[in-house]
Amino acid sequence: MGLLCKIAAMLGFGSSKKEEETPVEKPVEKTAAQPQVAKPTATPVVDGVKKYVLIGAGPASVRAAETLRKADPACVITMIGLEKESPYSRMALPYYLSGMIEDTGTHLRKTEGHFEGLNIDHVFAKVEKIDSEKQTVTTGSGDVYDYDKLMIATGSRPANCPFPGSDTTGVVNCWTLEDGREILDTIKPGSKVALLGAGFVASIIIEAMLKRGVDLTVMMGRTGKMVSRMMDDTAGEMIKSWCEAKGVTTIIPSTIKSIEPGPALKRDDDSLTEFDLIIVATGVYSNIEFLEGSGIETDQGIIVDEGLKTSVDNIYAAGDVAQGIDFSTGGLSVHAIQPTAVDHGRIAAVNMMGGSAAYKGSLCMNVLDTAGLVSTSFGSWGGVEGGETATLVDVDNYKYIRLNFKDDLLVGAITVGRTDFIGVMRGLIQSEVPLGDWKEKLTEDPTLLMNAYLAQSLDIAR
Ligand SMILES: Cc1cc2nc3c(=O)[nH]c(=O)nc-3n(C[C@H](O)[C@H](O)[C@H](O)COP(=O)(O)OP(=O)(O)OC[C@H]3O[C@@H](n4cnc5c(N)ncnc54)[C@H](O)[C@@H]3O)c2cc1C
Repeated sequence: MGLLCKIAAMLGFGSSKKEEETPVEKPVEKTAAQPQVAKPTATPVVDGVKKYVLIGAGPASVRAAETLRKADPACVITMIGLEKESPYSRMALPYYLSGMIEDTGTHLRKTEGHFEGLNIDHVFAKVEKIDSEKQTVTTGSGDVYDYDKLMIATGSRPANCPFPGSDTTGVVNCWTLEDGREILDTIKPGSKVALLGAGFVASIIIEAMLKRGVDLTVMMGRTGKMVSRMMDDTAGEMIKSWCEAKGVTTIIPSTIKSIEPGPALKRDDDSLTEFDLIIVATGVYSNIEFLEGSGIETDQGIIVDEGLKTSVDNIYAAGDVAQGIDFSTGGLSVHAIQPTAVDHGRIAAVNMMGGSAAYKGSLCMNVLDTAGLVSTSFGSWGGVEGGETATLVDVDNYKYIRLNFKDDLLVGAITVGRTDFIGVMRGLIQSEVPLGDWKEKLTEDPTLLMNAYLAQSLDIAR
């Protein structure tokens, strides 16, 4: 088990922020013209049997489907996903790209016939419309599914590339398993690869690209920094210089004019730099456009309450597409990490069945392995108004700790190159253990975290 996998297992790791670049324009969906006439319902109708429709076939829907089936052996569960794949985990893509696993290793459930065995109907289709009055969803091919309860877990999709020419052959995203296959089909040791973007996804696939022996150029975010939506400048700068030390060439967006056939990047001096592959990872959008006219309230994602219910009766939302409670701020955020998606799926399912489960809020939690340098950020990693901050920096050795306090609580933290107490950081933030005198000691020496945790937790236990 690799270091990151171990940390992941410990934390249920990931990114709770969207990608680094916030795209300026909303992308236009390219969909083929679809028949307008609705076909008869494809959902079997059985009197008294509840019908659940789940849109999406990612971690949120899979967990919801299994939770429903466990509690109700008779209900009808239809899970509609647009990718023709066995349900899989996007967070496993970097491991697939690096060769640690096969494409089937990304599958969320590895047993052959798992979903059929549970009588979960997995339909491959794109949902294009929800009629919340009639309680139906309609797919692109005109099939109509009626529901008693509906859960939307359509996740996100990559943002449009900020440069003209992104439809050029040899330009791909790194979002789906199919993208992963295309990347692996194209690259070989020595291939020239440009990675446009320096956010979460970009920073974790750098490792895989280097393992594959490619000659890698990475475009920084608009700020000229790496992972600026989940790390402060000190951490971002360390990660960037670490990558450069590993042989990665870094460039800034203002030096790129367009993407040209080749594929090539046209630079600001009109020169062309050719690549074998250009990977675009410049941000994501929530998949919410198809909700237009449904009455479901949306913002960056679908607004949900603590029970994952949307503004419309009998409709719930979960995972990356849901904008739910944020543990640190108490506000509503899109928590784009797999552990949150799984929790959401389970809680939404319980509530769809008439339960009253509440989601306490997701802690912002990012764990990155960028070419072997592990960095983490938790909670209010940038600090809070009126709060205090303690830091310990060793730039030469790529080591950094930042602790953010509000009164005598730890409310956020960042580490680079240190994995020794990240579980403790999360514990202190999430359990809101008062630090008392330990706050002063930690301000002087942030490495005393474990001592503080043990002392204060024991105090509370007594
Ligand atoms: C490269 C990469 C690495 C990642 N690494 C991590 C990590 O290390 N840790 C972590 O916690 N998270 C990571 N993530 C994020 C994580 O994958 C997501 O948080 C998680 O997949 C969210 O699950 P979900 O079920 O909400 O959405 P998704 O997994 O995105 O699933 C959405 C589903 O909806 C379907 N769909 C979309 N639109 C429609 C429609 N109109 N009709 C029908 N179906 C539709 C899609 O086909 C898909 O089946 C990573 C993501 C990527 C891309």
